[in-house]
Amino acid sequence: SRAQAMEVTESPAVEYADIGGIDEQIREVREAVEDPLENPEQFEAVGVEPPSGVLLHGPPGTGKTMLAKAVANESDATFIKMAGSELVRKFIGEGSRLVRDLFELAAEREPAVIFIDEIDAVASKRTDSKTSGDAEVQRTMMQLLSEMDGFDERGEIRIIAATNRFDMLDEAILRPGRFDRLIEVPEPDTEGRARILEIHTQEMNVADDVDVSEVAADLEGYSGADIASIATEAGMFAIRDDRTEVVQADFERARDKLHDAEGTDEQVIN
Ligand code: ATP
Repeated sequence: SRAQAMEVTESPAVEYADIGGIDEQIREVREAVEDPLENPEQFEAVGVEPPSGVLLHGPPGTGKTMLAKAVANESDATFIKMAGSELVRKFIGEGSRLVRDLFELAAEREPAVIFIDEIDAVASKRTDSKTSGDAEVQRTMMQLLSEMDGFDERGEIRIIAATNRFDMLDEAILRPGRFDRLIEVPEPDTEGRARILEIHTQEMNVADDVDVSEVAADLEGYSGADIASIATEAGMFAIRDDRTEVVQADFERARDKLHDAEGTDEQVIN
């Protein structure tokens, strides 16, 4: 149903301080989303339009959704999330109807941040568009573009989309007046991983001799989402050993466990 397709949160429980390793991206999102919501008169005075839409792109689990929630929360805006995959509907007109509902709901709840995750589901380059399913997806995308063309950049609705597949996007959505502010959210570097690990172990009883930077240095290639689950899993190892303190070896075991699990996944896919 329509209600189920959208997630609406008045104040998502995410703050900028909960997001590690992407300070520059936080700054850019604030400038594109928070500033126009909070100081529209400044844009007016200077005589520039804020960006229409922000596109966050980068690998899975790097904090794109967190960033969208945090900027909604910190700008006191309603957060309305829709997954692109939800917009791909079987019946003609259903996808575009949902897009209209999305913008209508945002207008009722403004100030609002609309977040469309997996935008590639409705905005991929057309490959082979012979089938009617593709034509329907295309119509949904056109509806989205027309909603964006129709709204006031200085108004109280901001729109953010996210994708893991930037290279597959149809250029039509990147034109001026559409998703014209691109922000790459990359995999974290060593310093970023240490910060993310710090954030996720903040509430944990970690032994004094645990060196977060050392643990993080060994996590090359791991995303923020991976690091969050390594922290939890390290805690689980401590519990299994009937300890109340998490030691360095727990993090290593947790990493190896995740590594093995991911290896298994790959085997399944291949
Ligand atoms: P996807 O592309 O798979 O939707 P995403 O980039 O939107 O992923 P999030 O949903 O924001 O990723 O992150 C998932 C979880 O991973 C978060 O709830 C958080 O626990 C952790 N996480 C990811 N990135 C970070 C980060 N930069 N700092 C702190 N925690 C993070």
